Amino acid sequence: MTAKSAAAAARPTVYGFPRQGQNRELKKAIEGYWKGRVTADSLRETAAGLRRSNWQLLADAGIDEVPTGDFSYYDHVLDTSVMVGAVPERHRSAVAADALDGFFAMARGTQDVAPLEMTKWFDTNYHYLVPELGPGTEFTADSTKQVAEFKEALALGHTPRPVLVGPVTYLLLSKPAPGVAADFDPLTLLDRLLPVYGEVLADLRAAGAEWVQLDEPALVQDRTAAELNAASRAYRDLGALKDRPKLLVASYFDRLGEALPVLAKAPVEGLAIDFTEAAAANLDDLAKAGGLKGKRLVAGVVNGRNIWINDLEKSLSTLGTLLGLADRVDVAASCSLLHVPIDTGAERDIDQQILRWLAFARQKANEVAVLAKGLSGGTDSITADLTANRADLASRAGSAITHDPAVRARAGAITDADGRRSQPYTERAKAQREHLGLPLLPTTTIGSFPQTTELRTARADLRKGKIDTAGYEERIKTEIQQVLSFQEKAGIDVLVHGEPERNDMVQYFAEQLTGYLATQQGWVQSYGTRYVRPPVLAGDISRPEPMTVPWTTYAQSLTQRPVKGMLTGPVTMLAWSFVRDDQPLGDTARQVALALRDEVQDLEAAGTSVIQVDEPALRETLPLRAANRPAYLEWATESFRLSTSGVRPATQIHTHMCYAEFGDIIQAIDDIDADVISLEAARSHMQVARELAAHGYPREAGPGVYDIHSPRVPSADEAAALLRKGLEAIPAERLWVNPDCGLKTRGWPETRTSLENLVAAAATVRAEL
Ligand code: GLN
Ligand code: ZN
Repeated sequence: MTAKSAAAAARPTVYGFPRQGQNRELKKAIEGYWKGRVTADSLRETAAGLRRSNWQLLADAGIDEVPTGDFSYYDHVLDTSVMVGAVPERHRSAVAADALDGFFAMARGTQDVAPLEMTKWFDTNYHYLVPELGPGTEFTADSTKQVAEFKEALALGHTPRPVLVGPVTYLLLSKPAPGVAADFDPLTLLDRLLPVYGEVLADLRAAGAEWVQLDEPALVQDRTAAELNAASRAYRDLGALKDRPKLLVASYFDRLGEALPVLAKAPVEGLAIDFTEAAAANLDDLAKAGGLKGKRLVAGVVNGRNIWINDLEKSLSTLGTLLGLADRVDVAASCSLLHVPIDTGAERDIDQQILRWLAFARQKANEVAVLAKGLSGGTDSITADLTANRADLASRAGSAITHDPAVRARAGAITDADGRRSQPYTERAKAQREHLGLPLLPTTTIGSFPQTTELRTARADLRKGKIDTAGYEERIKTEIQQVLSFQEKAGIDVLVHGEPERNDMVQYFAEQLTGYLATQQGWVQSYGTRYVRPPVLAGDISRPEPMTVPWTTYAQSLTQRPVKGMLTGPVTMLAWSFVRDDQPLGDTARQVALALRDEVQDLEAAGTSVIQVDEPALRETLPLRAANRPAYLEWATESFRLSTSGVRPATQIHTHMCYAEFGDIIQAIDDIDADVISLEAARSHMQVARELAAHGYPREAGPGVYDIHSPRVPSADEAAALLRKGLEAIPAERLWVNPDCGLKTRGWPETRTSLENLVAAAATVRAEL
């Protein structure tokens, strides 16, 4: 088949678009509604307006099959729960009284009922609401939203393709409802769920949908034979339905692997596969499976979750290969564009040349359309686009920003020894004990103290020019004084300055490192109405001057006790940014590590004896497939060590990670060779301490005894009981006393009492030793 004869078939499409609107209109309308300032009708109008303009934007960019149903007031997994009637018992009355308020009650909770739990959508920074299911769950179909949005787009003259979370992924993302046995497997509900999907599909067909997309990203993870079998059954049954639209089963984020032959054999009309992440593996697997005879292949060749322009020639070559493997090849972004900002055209502060290296949702839609045109009409039909693309890629590749000889020379000269402390832990520990003279069960906090309104106002005032830098710094100093004097009075042993000068633990450093860019309008949804603006790690990373030394030394000048230096580690700096895709992540992490290494050494030279390097993201960027994890953990742990190994034995390196389950990375926690690690543990009753002990973790640890995710104040007795539990696993010489995480989201009153109780608990348990 030549590219020309495929011409009629190649359609450009995407699976979803950012929901918020260019000026975050949706956020404003929803939050206004919550406050009672916006009516439900007006909120609905805003939402419909945004959908309309998003479809139009896609159509204008050249997309001819637009997604519907991807829009959400909060989260598309929650929409799916509503669609299948999986409303938890505790939210039923709210939903019955008012569908919209009930929906928000499930998302955010109310005075009386807890919301659904929220967790990360695969390895992205988007969070979904976890469905709660049990053996008693009865599903019922509610296709209202899906049908309405489909009809809306149809009436506007588009060719809409509804996008639903697929039934297998939906169940695999669910958890046992409260009160249901923890080992309940939601997948056992598949046979009950499929007829409900069948009804929704029939309703969409009746409304005129030719195609419906079912997203099954969970199938790119390692799956058991039983799970693959469930996928096979699901699509056999849905495929066998009578009045149904054509089915496009979509996967993204990694290699489809063992699930590929399962779906290839299923009686569905199309598969959508990611050819950006794991492109080579997916191509290989597809060829091995003998291609998709008789099926439509939607090829995700434009990366839907980074912000870099596509290499059009490379994508065309992939598409050309795929032409031989399916009946019809269409072009798409690899996943929903939800994960990227809307439009580079809204950026005012980024240099025009650099802006041409970036593609946000609108630009990606355009790339998809250009590629479809090139696939159908041959490269001659897109000559101008190819020329411009080549020039932009060359400008990026040849730029001094992406290639700083000094940074490269230094990274190239790294030796193994640079990533190792000069003495083993036991020796260092002795030196640190002598140098620091801390009591047994030393108390500390994780870094941040409450981010008060005054602090936020000070930052806003500085931005608006209401105060100057000197005025701002005065306010920060006052805050640091207060934070320190409270800690001294409370009797905490290792103090922190409280991080009042930091807007965000990644952004703060990104703003000071060369090689990072900031966007003005690059908002992406984190969850609900919370949007973040990840910095863009665009080039070679270097540190023009110390980033934290002045604040830390100021804080240290106010007290005799040790003040911890506080940095964000290389893995977290990458995880919460848009990272360059033109070199391996490990190379980028190494550059960040070297910049941090200088900061660590400057802190030490300025008299800081305890330095904490936070890596809360170490676990969340763990690759979806186990086969890719060793390589990731290798560079992740190496870059941590590189950033922290340049210090004297007596300087104590801390790290912090906040999650309660870390079985998969316990070896990595050991491998980073930090002297002290603080971890989240309060809610799991020190489970982490037991896991560390079982692993034989040899260094010091502070499993949290104060759950900072709740405004609740733990009593001294409660904290003491947790400490005693900790002591059963970790000997007193190696146990620290601290909260689960930073205190920036807490208020002062509860923070004060909680920390006083924590210090009292440490004293009580010390006396028992
Ligand atoms: N040092 C940071 C803080 O206390 C750590 C935050 C985090 O773990 N996410 O705020
Ligand atoms: Zn934390």
